Amino acid sequence: MKVLISGGGVAGLTLAYWLRRRGVEAVIVERAAHGRLGGYGIDFFGTGYDVAGRMGIVDRLAPHRLPVDSIDFVDAAGRVGARLTTPLLDKIIQGPHLALMHTTLEGALLDAVEGEVEIRFGETVTAVRDTGSAVEADFAGGGTQRFDLMVGADGIHSRTRELVFGPEPEFARYLGCRLACFPVADRYGWGRARVHCTEPGRQVVVYPTGRAGELIALFLFRSSRTGNVPRDERPGLLRSTFGGMGWLTPSLLAEAPADEPIFMDTMTQIVMPAWHRGRVALVGDACGCMTMVSAQGVSMAMAGAYVLAEELATRGDHRLAFAHYQERMRAEVSRRQRNAQMFTRSLVPGTRPGLVAQSLAQRLVMREAFAPVLRRRFGADSILPPQTSQPVKE
Ligand SMILES: Cc1cc2nc3c(=O)[nH]c(=O)nc-3n(C[C@H](O)[C@H](O)[C@H](O)COP(=O)(O)OP(=O)(O)OC[C@H]3O[C@@H](n4cnc5c(N)ncnc54)[C@H](O)[C@@H]3O)c2cc1C
Repeated sequence: MKVLISGGGVAGLTLAYWLRRRGVEAVIVERAAHGRLGGYGIDFFGTGYDVAGRMGIVDRLAPHRLPVDSIDFVDAAGRVGARLTTPLLDKIIQGPHLALMHTTLEGALLDAVEGEVEIRFGETVTAVRDTGSAVEADFAGGGTQRFDLMVGADGIHSRTRELVFGPEPEFARYLGCRLACFPVADRYGWGRARVHCTEPGRQVVVYPTGRAGELIALFLFRSSRTGNVPRDERPGLLRSTFGGMGWLTPSLLAEAPADEPIFMDTMTQIVMPAWHRGRVALVGDACGCMTMVSAQGVSMAMAGAYVLAEELATRGDHRLAFAHYQERMRAEVSRRQRNAQMFTRSLVPGTRPGLVAQSLAQRLVMREAFAPVLRRRFGADSILPPQTSQPVKE
């Protein structure tokens, strides 16, 4: 069996790894010219950590953990109103966890498939035809190739989904918030903290990347505008939305890169009635994006990839495998999507009274007594059954 995977991100690389380990050939086409640079930080725990452990890459990730000992919530003057410390986070998660740059995880996954899986960087699929007995894919770089199956692991704005299942608006659930981020120089003598400052309708988050003198500035804001904001309009949109905001905001905005695109996207979930059609299936954000608010996107992408590889390698029939994969994963994803939907409403309150209520709630829940509630909300347990034996790499 030969599987074409569109997208060499967390889901695509994890899928290729587990297919290869189970004797299935996989080819990845990745739009980016090489492994992605820059990016944003992620909280990594639960199922994702479990899958990384099974792949033997945790030891390579751990040295690159972000230097963050607390998550602080400050007011416009920088006064800390609530603090989530590492010991409390340990009690919430009750298991191993790491804060990492997303690119660190992708880099480790890339290394894990290096030399084992063909990856065509700078390539995309432009057309897909399911002939019943195979999938024919046309490539932007020219040529057509036949595969037994195709998996779209190409993220929230999946081209595979568009080609095979329908246009994005059919499956998009916009949560009313937009996010943007970029790296800034540490001109502040930053400590080991991730700091959130919120005003009605907008929030700024800053944390260290672990690279000397570098911080990430993340901007979250309520917006009724859906769809893509052209790159050249992004700095202006950020300046107008965050104009007049206190704390470090003016200084951070002044550092918005002029010569490089700012990462900006909507907070949108992807909700689909079916994750597979014929010989094509989707995995990760492509079929089940939960948004960053769930802090579980990476975990569910890796879990989905692991489960899909297992089903494909053991069922002997792709229809059965796809159906079982969806059955094992979709309820878990839907639950996290519902949680994230609820949480987004209170993440960036739209009004001053809402902000006051948020501050009170933060002070209340950031205690040991609330750890079990937060633990349930963030789905800190692995959803995979315990591993009975360690697969051996051929
Ligand atoms: C700011 C931010 C913070 C987040 N924080 C967390 C967190 O704390 N914890 C957590 O678990 N998750 C977090 N997430 C979510 C997490 O990053 C995603 O859920 C996860 O990356 C999904 O993995 P994926 O492989 O499905 O998609 P992606 O990571 O988006 O990968 C898709 C890949 O497909 C490639 N691609 C796209 N289109 C094409 C095409 N047409 N052809 C070929 N290749 C293509 C892309 O270049 C990319 O390499 C966060 C997300 C953001 C934006």
